[in-house]
Amino acid sequence: MAQCIFCQIVNKEMPASIVYEDDLCLVFMDIFPIKLGHTLIIPKTHSAFLHELDDKVRQHLFKVANAVLQAQRDAGITRDGANLLVNDGKAANQHVPHVHVHVLPRDQGDLVKVAWTFLTRMLNFFGKDKKRAKLDKMASDIRQHLPSDI
Ligand code: AMP
Ligand code: ZN
Repeated sequence: MAQCIFCQIVNKEMPASIVYEDDLCLVFMDIFPIKLGHTLIIPKTHSAFLHELDDKVRQHLFKVANAVLQAQRDAGITRDGANLLVNDGKAANQHVPHVHVHVLPRDQGDLVKVAWTFLTRMLNFFGKDKKRAKLDKMASDIRQHLPSDI
């Protein structure tokens, strides 16, 4: 699906701060992070809903998500906890209709900050280049802590 932004990222037609890829999935930094380190894991083939994926792909996404979370812990990006979440369908707040697992680092007591950033994060279009550099650095930090055999 060419017009799908995540398919465009898979096809390298749109820039992304890529953490990891294999035959089945791609991992990259969320461009509007709710928290520093906010990462997305997507299947390489287009599906809008989780149930549309092959079992093998779905299992792999969560295996990789778990490895990303562990890498974030090892890199000191995730300390107190994390949300692993899929918004499955428009009614469930899914904005990009290509399956994605969010890995969102959380800190004790950060709820108000997270809620505020969730509501305002897309307003900030300034400093795009600086922002990309920051996301690339974060992607590299996570990549360095991923095992070679996910
Ligand atoms: P959802 O609301 O669950 O569909 O999440 C979609 C996520 O994709 C949001 O957190 C967006 O910030 C993120 N996003 C949208 N466009 C891009 C992009 N070009 N590169 C990286 N992340 C993106
Ligand atoms: Zn897609």
